[in-house]
Amino acid sequence: MRLIVLGPPGAGKGTQAQRLVVNHGLVQLSTGDMLRAAVAAQTPVGIEAKAIMETGKLVPDSVVTGIISDRLDDDDIKGGFILDGFPRTLKQADALERLLAEKAMPLDGVIILEVDDDALVERVAGRFTCASCGTGYHDTFKPTKTDGVCDVCGSAEFKRRADDNAETMRTRLQAYYKDTAPLVGYYYAKGKLKSVDGMAGIDAVGAEIDALLADMKG
Ligand code: ADP
Ligand code: ADP
Ligand code: ZN
Repeated sequence: MRLIVLGPPGAGKGTQAQRLVVNHGLVQLSTGDMLRAAVAAQTPVGIEAKAIMETGKLVPDSVVTGIISDRLDDDDIKGGFILDGFPRTLKQADALERLLAEKAMPLDGVIILEVDDDALVERVAGRFTCASCGTGYHDTFKPTKTDGVCDVCGSAEFKRRADDNAETMRTRLQAYYKDTAPLVGYYYAKGKLKSVDGMAGIDAVGAEIDALLADMKG
């Protein structure tokens, strides 16, 4: 299957994408993760993206579209993928449409996670990830089973994102409502959109997504 998970910052896109990787064998394509890796490696893209990401604004369309275009040529995504955090603008959606048409890889569906702004702020404030395997956690909603130890790989090192602060979050929400929310209508008009109540717990949201996927497979 080829899916997009759409939703505001902190909605649970990465969490649900990680679940789909484990349960459905899809590959997660997160432009946020790819950009953070480029920043850490100080590549030219990373150097350009760093300052923009720190303010909460969007990285230029051409940069992210280039990254995704290259990634879609890799063999590991042939069995299906889930785009997390891309596309984020109408320009990116049009570029993706062209890329997928060229590669004869049509999209199966677009899942939108609906979450209230207050909950988003709370989710982002408590977010942390394993520095070693990337598994996502939350101080309150998804703590590690043993304090300070990753459930998946046993590492004791964790990271918090520089942009997960209240001030940057305001800019990110503005960017979402201005530039990304129009994609809801865009995919609805194409008959691809599936709306999910993202306010429920992580497992309940996952179950709703699983039911949608079963439906799509028919
Ligand atoms: P979130 O968890 O808030 O949805 P991401 O990890 O997807 O955040 O993205 C973090 C930051 O990386 C964004 O605020 C933006 O600066 C940049 N970014 C990620 N994906 C894109 C994209 N598709 N287009 C433009 N900028 C992006
Ligand atoms: P996104 O990728 O959309 O920015 P994440 O998947 O990183 O969002 O989730 C943001 C934070 O909220 C993480 O700390 C995650 O553990 C937590 N979280 C994700 N889904 C839920 C949920 N349904 N209920 C409560 N917390 C959640
Ligand atoms: Zn880990």
